[in-house]
Parts: sequence; C-alpha cells; structure tokens
Amino acid sequence: MQHVLVFNSGSSSFKFSLFSTESEAPLLTGIAEKLGTSEAFMSLKAVDGRKEQLDIHRDHEAAIQTLVEKLPAYDLSFDDVAVVGHRVVHGGETFSASVKIDDKVLADIRSCSALAPLHNPANVLGIELVKELYPELPQVAVFDTAFHQTLPSKAFLYPIPYKLYKEQGIRRYGFHGTSHRYVAETAIEQLKLSEDDSQILVAHLGNGCSATAVVNGKSVDTTMGLTPLEGLVMGTRSGDVDPSLHQYLQDTLGWSLSRITDVLNRESGLLGLSEVSNDMRTLVAAAESGSEGAIIAIDVFCFRLARHLAALTASLSRVDALIFTGGIGENSPGIRARVLEQLVIFGFRVDVSSNDIHGREAGGVITEAGSTVAMVIQTNEEAMIARDALSLLNGKEVAQ
Ligand code: ADP
Repeated sequence: MQHVLVFNSGSSSFKFSLFSTESEAPLLTGIAEKLGTSEAFMSLKAVDGRKEQLDIHRDHEAAIQTLVEKLPAYDLSFDDVAVVGHRVVHGGETFSASVKIDDKVLADIRSCSALAPLHNPANVLGIELVKELYPELPQVAVFDTAFHQTLPSKAFLYPIPYKLYKEQGIRRYGFHGTSHRYVAETAIEQLKLSEDDSQILVAHLGNGCSATAVVNGKSVDTTMGLTPLEGLVMGTRSGDVDPSLHQYLQDTLGWSLSRITDVLNRESGLLGLSEVSNDMRTLVAAAESGSEGAIIAIDVFCFRLARHLAALTASLSRVDALIFTGGIGENSPGIRARVLEQLVIFGFRVDVSSNDIHGREAGGVITEAGSTVAMVIQTNEEAMIARDALSLLNGKEVAQ
C-alpha cells in the first residue's frame, strides 16, 4: 500500500493529512498546536468520524512521534507511508513546479527564506525533522508560488527601478498556487473545457484571498504579489492600499514601519473595516442584523473582488468560467451573488436556486443557462500535494 503523508509545518504548529492512493478524501487529518510550550496538543480526525485530542507537552519531534505511535489505533501504519509531501510557502524563481527534496533543494528552499521569513524556515524545520527521523523516506516540496511562475514579465514586474528586481528579486510572485492549480484542473475537467484552449478566473476566498487568471491551465496573472498582502480584501489583511500610506501614517501618527506592517496584516481587511470580526460568516449574520460596520466591510470586500476580477480579464480573450473556492467562495451564496451582479458586464446571470444549494457539500454551476459560467469548486490543496508527491515518487512529470 502506498500512503502519502501531507505535512504543513508552521513554527509552533503543524497540520497533516494522510492519504491513500484510492481517494482524495484523507484517511486521517490532524493538527498539532502550541508546540514547544507546556500546552502543546494534537487533535486527530479520522475518515470514519472518530476524533481525539492528545496532550504532547513538547515540540515538533515529539508530535511526529506521537502521530506515528497513534496510527495503529486507526488501523494505519507509518510503514505504509511511501512519501511525505510538504507545503512550502515560497519557492522564489527557483521552483516552478513540485520537486523531490534532496540536499540541494533543501538549501535552495532555505535561500528563499528572505522572501518568506515567517514561513519558509518553519517549512524547512518540518522537512529536516522527517529527514532526521526517517532518512530513507522520500520527501517532496510543493510550493504556494510555483503555479504562478508562468506569469509573463508584464504581469510580475513592479514599475520600480529594474535593478530591485534583478538584484533583490523584488517582483510579484503570487500565492495560493496549489489551490488555484487544483481548482483550475478540476474546472477544466468538470466543465469539459479543452486543456489547450481554456480561459478561466479562480477566486480563492478564505482567510487569505487571491484571484488568478488561468489560460490553458497556466497562471497568467494573480492578485497577490511579493507578499500575500497585495490584492484583495482579506480577513485581517488590507490588500491593495496606496503605497504612500506608510509615509502618511508615520508623518501624521508617528507609527513605525513595523507597526504599520502589523496593522495592514493583522488589523485591517474585514476586521479593520467592520470593527466586528474577520470572519465572513459572523459578518454576514451581523449585516443581516443591521450592523453598519459589517455592511460596509462586505460592500468593500465584494466591490474590490469584482474590480480585481475585471482587471484579471485583461489577460483573457474570453471568460469560459469564474470559479469560487475557499471557505467564503464555497459557503457564501450572498457574496457570490453580489460579486456576479457587480460583474454583469461580463454576462453573468446568477441562478438563485443553484447558487443557494451549491457549497462545500456539492460544487456546481451557479449561473443560468446562456449566462457566462460561474461555479463553485471545493479546493483541496492537500490532495494536490499528495498527487504531486505520488507522481514524483513514481517518476512521473508534475504539471507546473
Ligand atoms: P483558510 O484560508 O484559513 O483555509 P477557509 O478557507 O476555511 O480559511 O475560509 C475561512 C472563511 O470562510 C472565514 O471567513 C469563514 O467565515 C468563511 N466561511 C465559512 N463558512 C461560511 C459561510 N457559511 N458563510 C460565509 N462565510 C463562511
């Protein structure tokens, strides 16, 4: 049996999913949190619905060992794990597709750390630990940025001194690539579009939000940039603001650069505007009860999303489909309808009843016959990582 362990290592946490080759639904998922503290714990959820929570009281290594020891209780064995697939946030310009990890790859991932100082070192930690504990086990890295390495230079360059790109690597990289790729591939399959002649937009709307234009299965433009702060309004991130805002806030309020960065990342977006919550479900409920803050936050969220989607169409010659995914995209008919109404110029006409029923349980088309197609597809980044890990293990090519 070939099982794949998908690993997403953070600095004080890791998430994992264990897949068999038969299904894109994981056999076991879990998260270990507060690692390195006395409150460290791990929660597990099996495919049969069983759940449990365990105290670990220690670090990443102890958590991995606990997981390995726990597997037999779920009729699973670590011996069946043929490959570990790691989510790695930043692959810079070095990685344009998933790769098998060796010492050179590990060094290259480390060298991308300046671009993602909070994430890449934590991802490396997970890879190194698995290597230390199970040196013979093949490992694969799947990058959030890789899918967007097909962006043309006109889409990835900032109009700033060119040497900042050449010497410092300052450019737009884009993120959520694994989700955009999974959703684009699924859309092409489900809508029976031609792989060589398809033009779609994908809106990944979770806590972080980004949208991508995908032509013939390749990313050609995306809303996130050098960092995941650029682009759409998100839960706590502002998305695009005037680049002069930093200077203005420093001059008028005396805020430091790090304070401003923190405000734009953690206190802005839906949370900042609404002064209620970063959580769209809460905001939708609050708006229904008349909360002004929630109403305005949702207005700005939807308008800016529509505006960005319209901008992404500059890279298309037609719109075959707009796909909604992520927690908000999959679960909020109201947000989807608002965005499609704002984009009426592209010929979207919402089918109210299919929009109401389509969500996490069942994806599907949410527009009327004759309308430009919009649909919901459940993202599954972990399954995509598992797919790539198995392909590379078995010597197959993986898509960019
Ligand atoms: P992450 O980006 O952390 O993976 P998710 O993709 O799960 O997050 O998305 C989380 C977002 O989805 C939250 O804003 C949450 O409120 C929103 N969401 C989940 N269910 C609903 C719903 N029924 N209606 C509106 N928003 C929802």
